[in-house]
Amino acid sequence: MPRFFSETSLAAITPGQEICLPDAIFHHAVRVRRLKSGDDCILFDGDGNVWRVTLTGIDKRRAFVRAENQMPPPPPPSLPITLALAITAVDRMDWALQKGTELGVAAFLPFYGEHSNARLSDARQERRFEHWQAVIIGACEQCGQNRLPRLSPPVPFDTLLNTVTGEAAAWRLDADASQTLAAALQNARTLSPPEQVFLMVGPEGGFAPNEVRAADAAGWQAVRLGPRILRAETAAAAAITLVQAALGDLA
Ligand code: SAH
Repeated sequence: MPRFFSETSLAAITPGQEICLPDAIFHHAVRVRRLKSGDDCILFDGDGNVWRVTLTGIDKRRAFVRAENQMPPPPPPSLPITLALAITAVDRMDWALQKGTELGVAAFLPFYGEHSNARLSDARQERRFEHWQAVIIGACEQCGQNRLPRLSPPVPFDTLLNTVTGEAAAWRLDADASQTLAAALQNARTLSPPEQVFLMVGPEGGFAPNEVRAADAAGWQAVRLGPRILRAETAAAAAITLVQAALGDLA
């Protein structure tokens, strides 16, 4: 059944209520997916409210749906994973956000590394942020994820280093690290499994030496993935998969 993200909260909807579809969903549902009166679809607001609705009327600019039944709220992630991702070229970043969402990342934290070659003006940053948000929403619509991963505005490297709190494992992906992520996960499983995981992936140019020192000092453990240098987005997807398989919902 087609699934559409509603920017408007669905918390106050009641069964049988008739609502007008927001413009973005109208376009997507009626023009792109060609839904007709009588068709069912799912609306979710990313905050845990999920409804099965039936299209009751369509005109040139609007469509109405009737709320049929509320679906059970999605369970919270078994292991919240935050992916800190150095800002890179648009398509690589999109890929990482899309695959990260599919693989169950709970929060994305883009950051500027010293070797990030993309530095965005405020206006471009805002447009990029909206674009990233749209990529995440598209991935949620497609993969059945009803809880929208959080997306933070880009932060400087220092701010990123200090976002880790509580019983968390913080791993910085680095091809030069002496320990593998697999070994770190094995350790975490036998000692004390973390309540949440932070993964940091660097830009195309890798981490600058002073960033490596600062991350070490802030308690981020450097870990490597096998013997090859991966593209940032590949490293992100591989690391999330390993973490989910060892401690999360791919186990
Ligand atoms: N020229 C850079 C390559 C950067 S690849 C360098 O030599 O470091 C982009 C990012 O992907 C890296 O910063 C790292 O976070 C991640 N990455 C790539 N290959 C990796 C590997 N084998 N193990 C761990 N992280 C890796």
